[in-house]
Amino acid sequence: MSGRLFIISGCSGVGKGTLLKLLLEKNPNIKLSISATTRKPRTGEEDGVNYFFISKEEFKQAINNNEFLEWAQFSDNYYGTKKSFVEKTLAKGIDLILEIEVQGAKQVKEKMPEAISIFIMPPSIDVLEARLRGRKTEDELTIQKRLHEVQREIEAGEKFDYKIVNDNIEDALANLQNIFNTKRNTKC
Ligand code: 5GP
Repeated sequence: MSGRLFIISGCSGVGKGTLLKLLLEKNPNIKLSISATTRKPRTGEEDGVNYFFISKEEFKQAINNNEFLEWAQFSDNYYGTKKSFVEKTLAKGIDLILEIEVQGAKQVKEKMPEAISIFIMPPSIDVLEARLRGRKTEDELTIQKRLHEVQREIEAGEKFDYKIVNDNIEDALANLQNIFNTKRNTKC
């Protein structure tokens, strides 16, 4: 039986990373896809663990070779999910999460309508901005660019199968776990 594909999106700073880390700790048999990106690694990030960090030339070559299930340009960088990795993982019956932005989510839903899409909402734009600044991983220009994307992302989030507001991490995690429990048991 094929594994199920989950798409999780949400604005930068919404807390997707923390939520997913907790979800994966509780559900070790779910896999998180590792994307390719042209962005530079942040402190502590490792190649092949957080992302496959590649050059723009390598990324464009992979686009030309039709290697991506989806890809998008986000905040001056390219991000993409390799088709072969998704196909192989699902064929093994393993459930897989793609943590991707909204343009990529749309492409995956068009190609694989059975995928379950979940959008993580911030409680407010102000809270989002405070979180994005508080994590201190980006410079001011990058923060401004990411905040610029927020309205478009929230509008795109309306089309997702599920929306979860990450106001309180325990509640958001419980909601997310609930969706996984329901969808992993009903293979349709
Ligand atoms: P970050 O630079 O903060 O790691 O990621 C920026 C955005 O790119 C996030 O919204 C993240 O979900 C998204 N992203 C990460 N990997 C992929 C991918 O493979 N495809 C797409 N479309 N977006 C991705």
